[in-house]
Amino acid sequence: MELTSEKVALLLKGKHIGTPQRFRSACIDSRQVEEGSLFVALKGSRHDGHDFVMQALQKGCVGALVEREVPIPEGKFLIVVDNTLRALQKLAKYKRENFSGTVVGIAGSAGKTTTKEMIAFLLSKVGKTCKTPRNLNSQVGVPLSVINFDSDCEYWVVEMGASQKGDVRRLVQIVKPSVRVITSIGEEHLETFGCLDDVVLGNGEIFSDMHEEDIGVVPSYVYECYKDYKVITFGDGSEFEARDVSLSLEGVSFNVQGVRIFIPIPSFAVVENALCSLATIKAMGLDWKKLAENLSQFKPVEGRFRVIKAGPNTLIDDSYNANPPSVRMALKTLSRLPGKRMAVLGDMLELGSDSERYHREIGSLCAELGIDECVFYGKEMFYAYQECKRLKQECYHFDEEDELLSLIKGKYGWIILFKGSRGMRMERFIERLLNDW
Ligand code: ATP
Ligand code: MG
Repeated sequence: MELTSEKVALLLKGKHIGTPQRFRSACIDSRQVEEGSLFVALKGSRHDGHDFVMQALQKGCVGALVEREVPIPEGKFLIVVDNTLRALQKLAKYKRENFSGTVVGIAGSAGKTTTKEMIAFLLSKVGKTCKTPRNLNSQVGVPLSVINFDSDCEYWVVEMGASQKGDVRRLVQIVKPSVRVITSIGEEHLETFGCLDDVVLGNGEIFSDMHEEDIGVVPSYVYECYKDYKVITFGDGSEFEARDVSLSLEGVSFNVQGVRIFIPIPSFAVVENALCSLATIKAMGLDWKKLAENLSQFKPVEGRFRVIKAGPNTLIDDSYNANPPSVRMALKTLSRLPGKRMAVLGDMLELGSDSERYHREIGSLCAELGIDECVFYGKEMFYAYQECKRLKQECYHFDEEDELLSLIKGKYGWIILFKGSRGMRMERFIERLLNDW
């Protein structure tokens, strides 16, 4: 859909200055400018986009959406509004309202990005599909993605992130999904959500303003929480239940209603993500059994259970992020892989006042699962270390990057899992190990 600057100014009740132009896309970062796009000047905590308008226009943007007038080159335009973030969201809402395809919205505590990629991957086999890129699931990322989606697609697949109540509701008002998915519910962002009940409510906002023809998809273990909405379920006890699950370093296989499915990622979490994706495909009235065959070609998303050969060892890069449910799931998977297994765990951040308890639980789970060696990294993981040690499991705690690396470098023929919150940047260990081997 091509937009004209004058029409957009009218829609946003803004003031149009300069030469009217057409544009198809929008951007917020002057370092990643797409030729012919609209630059949206947002005020962040560190930078003010207004300082980069000139640079963005010189690099090929046709005009900018701003809160105050700034100098612009000849032939470009400005649309001046009160609040550029609200304007971005309003423009996305307008784009959505003029889209006649099907929109899938995805919320949940863990597995949103992977499930989003998987659903988009399966839908792309039957029709043109757009998806939110990478992890763009925020109040800025979602509207920006929507503005950049092609209107001639059949499907849009949108990841919706939440760290507090109200986040998903605001995104739903823009995206108005007709298929509304919750991938999983567990302890996440407790610093801002408060408690697990609030996580249930916050993610449940995906069902706000549901139309009669809309449908939801939820894990069977939270059906009771959402049964007042029109939802179908996946997971244990539902029609999308995984049976005869078999795990190897090559990947995971399982049966769903007699259909054998193989995914080349050795993770139990990915089984959950696949069940969720297939239930979604069914909810959309598509032939899920036929589409499921394609999962054998599905590739892991960066930093989510990617298997990497490094010299004599096999590394599992799950460094993208961590919260208690995703660490539990990753440890459970690791414990079922054949061979000598090591978990290298960095802090799980943003857990609020119960952080110590959650870290201790992870330490005792490591011992319970019999992970051969556990390496804990960071301040909070010291609690996990204490617990694991108390249970007499082989374990270490490091604050020093080099000490941790030298322990790993002495290993031969091990499977080594790396996981931690984004802020812990656990991928740095993988990068250094790969460089050194
Ligand atoms: P974010 O909130 O950071 O955007 P996300 O919800 O998009 O995360 P992914 O990036 O897909 O989730 O996966 C993050 C982690 O969660 C990975 O370690 C993955 O293995 C794990 N995970 C995925 N699905 C589940 C699940 N159903 N239960 C527990 N852990 C899961
Ligand atoms: Mg994500």
